[in-house]
Amino acid sequence: MKLKFFLFCSLLSFQNLAQKTRLLYPKDYFLFPINPKQQNYLAGGMGDLRADHFHAGIDIKTQGREGLAVQASADAYVSEIRVQTSGYGNVVFLTHPNGYVSVYGHLREFAEPLATYVKKKRLENQTFEIQLKPAVNEFVVKKGQIIGYSGNTGGSAGPHLHFEIRDINNNILNPLNFGFTEIKDNVPPIFQQLFIKTLGTDARVNGEFGRKSFHPIKKADGTYGINAEISAIGEIGLELLAVDKMNETHNSNGLTCTELFVDGKEVHYFHLEQFPNAVSHDINVHTDYAYEKTEGERIQKLFQDDGNDELPVYKPSIGKGKIIINDGEVHDISIKIWDAYENGSTLNFKIKGEKTENSVTVNPNKLPLSLNCSTVDNTLVIKARNLKTINSIAILNFEKTSAELAINYVKNNEAVYLWDLKKGLPKSILIDSLEKPMLLQKMIVPNQNQSFVSDKLSVIFDTKTLYDTLYLETSVGVNQVSIGQATTPLRNGITVSYQPESQPKLIDKTAIYYSYKNQKRFLGGKWNDNRIVFKANTLGNYLLQTDTIPPRANLVSKSPNVVSFRIGDNLSGVKTFKVFLNDEYVLSDYDMKRALLWTVKKDSTQKFIGKVRLELEDNQGNKSSFQTDVDAQSGTIVKKVESKKTKHKESPKKSAKHPKAVKASEKKKKKRKGV
Ligand SMILES: [Zn+2]
Repeated sequence: MKLKFFLFCSLLSFQNLAQKTRLLYPKDYFLFPINPKQQNYLAGGMGDLRADHFHAGIDIKTQGREGLAVQASADAYVSEIRVQTSGYGNVVFLTHPNGYVSVYGHLREFAEPLATYVKKKRLENQTFEIQLKPAVNEFVVKKGQIIGYSGNTGGSAGPHLHFEIRDINNNILNPLNFGFTEIKDNVPPIFQQLFIKTLGTDARVNGEFGRKSFHPIKKADGTYGINAEISAIGEIGLELLAVDKMNETHNSNGLTCTELFVDGKEVHYFHLEQFPNAVSHDINVHTDYAYEKTEGERIQKLFQDDGNDELPVYKPSIGKGKIIINDGEVHDISIKIWDAYENGSTLNFKIKGEKTENSVTVNPNKLPLSLNCSTVDNTLVIKARNLKTINSIAILNFEKTSAELAINYVKNNEAVYLWDLKKGLPKSILIDSLEKPMLLQKMIVPNQNQSFVSDKLSVIFDTKTLYDTLYLETSVGVNQVSIGQATTPLRNGITVSYQPESQPKLIDKTAIYYSYKNQKRFLGGKWNDNRIVFKANTLGNYLLQTDTIPPRANLVSKSPNVVSFRIGDNLSGVKTFKVFLNDEYVLSDYDMKRALLWTVKKDSTQKFIGKVRLELEDNQGNKSSFQTDVDAQSGTIVKKVESKKTKHKESPKKSAKHPKAVKASEKKKKKRKGV
């Protein structure tokens, strides 16, 4: 802690700082876990901006294939092994004598003796997913010992090895700081887009409230500039879309460090040299969550937004990177971005302080007035077209009082009125005799236990739920409820109690699903009389749906060596699967990406001869069972599988490949997701 304080308080540039920081890490302690002493390539870097987390390790390419030997990076004992449907997939955690932990994810299989150990435990527990924590020194490995084979299991979207190094306090460290010569990078990061955002009701960028984007242009001297006039007034924040590239690969990785200077003075410094795993979720306030949800891109803020106070990756600064621009001033802005190998790029531009004397009149017309209202942070933005007078006033009606609001500015004959919601939540807005009701019901502030209660709905926010103040809007439909917007990030979840208009007929088959962009996710819920109580980690729309249809399965192939099925479910999703051979539980592996399940021998002598039965259960408790007979001659695909308890017809088989014999093209994907 003291050391970090010293580093942050010193006036070193990133390069000096990074060099000093890297001296702290042991060199030559860890062996590169795949093809050591050869050049390797990364498909992902530590700290890359991923959905709900900073990427916790490096993704090492495996030539687009599986089965490469994965070696223990140093002497260690095996402290944890997991088999996961998503996330890490098959993963090994090694604890080293110096307290560091290394992690090897998405393995196709474990090496012995781990493979036998995991199989034994899975058989005992009759489960596919498992988390095992062997005793200290129960499994000791030597540096370079093969612990598994690379694969594509879990949330991986293409074959690679996910490799992490953590310290004794579960801080995620950047493996590239450990002196590996296997990775080469002398390519600087690339500026793609710059955004300037107003941070208060009184702020403007190029005369408008909201966010403006600019395209950085690379100049002959290698630095970047912006070929556009930028003016602003009030409090603004900068945001960035930028990627890092490495030698001889096309992949785009994240940045290690960003620096922002105003008139030569550093106002923001972000350095993802390490981070506590426990607060990785706070990426949702480091990046612009609403922009990600609406535009599909993760842009990172060059300021510490409200609620971003637990990620220890920023140098403390007075304004936290927020910039105040006054009228008549001209500021030199400089942004420096760096990768882990200290390759850097610089973007320079100027921001001119503008006067707030924009036009506030329109050309009136007789067309029907249209009003568009939205909430941006603490500001209610009202956009009005077809005003009846040149400067129509907006009247905001509150519970007991009302307020008059003049036009703030006009853009393309559209009048924009801005209201600071901290001053109150209007019940309706009246402009030119058109009254629009407002649905904002309650201001929910962070760091407090708060609740919203109405006739049919109650929502509980705990002290950690919110990053920032929420202006809550809810609605209750027949079989659906909406709470806030999906564009608001939550740190902790909410607890909701909802009473539908009428009680569903099949109450124990009916639950809550989170609905977003035509996708439904099972959330569950517990019925308490006529109300259902559920927890959610995201705001937005929730549907009440009934699922009475059990999971489905198609036999894909059968032989004494392997029996495989494609499985699925119509709504709530497959929760458990179990395969039995002559009524005895047998192991099966499952690949969620291909919805494929196949039997696994407990040892090389096992044959799947006899009655093979697959039992499935979905999240709503619907069960199904499928049975097939396998004899010694079975060796091909079977067109039909006997189904019991369900009315499902088996569809013709599309593919009859052995699960491990899938074409490489199916496995290859450009973008890696997952952990
Ligand atoms: Zn990864």
